[in-house]
Amino acid sequence: MDTVVQWNIRGLRSNFEELKLLLNRSQSAVVALQECRLGEGQVPPRGYTLLLPQGGSTGGEAALLIRNGTRFSEIDLKTGLHAAAATISLEKTLTVCSLYLPPSSPVSKLSLAELFEQLPKPFLVLGDFNAHSPAWGDSRRDGRGRMLEEVTAENDLIILNSGEQTFVHSAYHSTSAIDLAVASPSIAAECSWAAHSDLCGSDHFPIFLTLSSNFSSNYLKKKCLKALNLLRVVGHTDRGADRATLLKLYRTLVRSKLDYGSVIYGSAKKTRSEGPGPYTSSGPRETTPIKSLYAEAGEPSLEHRRMKLAFNYVLKLKSLPRNPCHEVVFEAPLDWDAEEANKFHEVLPNLGEDLHRRGEGAGRKLETAMFRLRVGHTWLTQSYLLKNEDQPFCYACDSLYTVRHILIECLDFQDTRKKYFSVTDLYRLFREVNPSRIVGYLKDLGVDGNI
Ligand SMILES: [Zn+2]
Repeated sequence: MDTVVQWNIRGLRSNFEELKLLLNRSQSAVVALQECRLGEGQVPPRGYTLLLPQGGSTGGEAALLIRNGTRFSEIDLKTGLHAAAATISLEKTLTVCSLYLPPSSPVSKLSLAELFEQLPKPFLVLGDFNAHSPAWGDSRRDGRGRMLEEVTAENDLIILNSGEQTFVHSAYHSTSAIDLAVASPSIAAECSWAAHSDLCGSDHFPIFLTLSSNFSSNYLKKKCLKALNLLRVVGHTDRGADRATLLKLYRTLVRSKLDYGSVIYGSAKKTRSEGPGPYTSSGPRETTPIKSLYAEAGEPSLEHRRMKLAFNYVLKLKSLPRNPCHEVVFEAPLDWDAEEANKFHEVLPNLGEDLHRRGEGAGRKLETAMFRLRVGHTWLTQSYLLKNEDQPFCYACDSLYTVRHILIECLDFQDTRKKYFSVTDLYRLFREVNPSRIVGYLKDLGVDGNI
């Protein structure tokens, strides 16, 4: 099984160490990077070759990292877009193209179609498209998103994204899905898409594309998406069929397929399995909450159906102790212990404790502040990502300026801190200290408005 990684790294230099960890972890032979911001003398990680767009940009807006020893041939693209591509021999031979479409400069449908045209199939185009559409999980649709929907449909290409968010806007604490994996059909069925759980220093999540020769849940998804495309056409709001017919079509074409094996895929990430449902059959706007759609259509939600089918399965499993799933379902706990690197682990080492109850009722503002402090993600400490600045640094202590540093470690704030609490770790802080005292401390420092 090969894994291809895509990542808008926001500076190869600034996230170099994170990249090396990622390469180590994923054992990936190919990485499509965007926004490398290459400076003088920047070298790729040891053991890898950096492939930049031919002729054009040298800043590494789009680049490919290929592990030495991998056979590949570079493709000389005729395009004005930031794109680098190579045909690469992994377990099977495929073309990988890294693409960066800046948010501000316009992109024409023709330029994208011409790019796709030049790539030998099967291919993956991996990049930061800065295009918004609910079709791949974004909450809104913009002009570029619509154009991309059209150009992929016209070229018979498939967007592999599962619907998860790929980008965190640190100023507004909002997220969007703008990093896309576009695949030619034959490779799409064999490719599974998963976003990393950590930003690794960027404001985009690294994304793993795992290629395997028989990944049936993706095959299933592809089948359903095809059927949904059909529904989209038949269900056009101006000239479409009536809703009774559409619901019938939905049940026959989509739901029947989803029922099959739902117990298994139900354990996949939520966004992967929670498809658009009866979305197209009732003519809603894309922002209509999915629960309302199910209610309006008189249709049990896919989740509900899956639960029902799963319960049947669990009851049966209970009577079969020698089935390999028996141990997993009835004995093994969730492996949160393996997540020790997650900075939230120090705050919540044991699952099941509802920490959020502390401070409840003290007002939405305080609750939100406490939440952000607990997960260690505040405007004060993360806004540098948005502003393209270096991560804030405490020169007094020679240390990164993190939530933990401010709350517990910083020597500069020691005297102020003593007035409010005296604990020396986050675990005790969020259990023993009254939330209003924590916020009082931040207020005293004059940073409470920046949480
Ligand atoms: Zn300090």
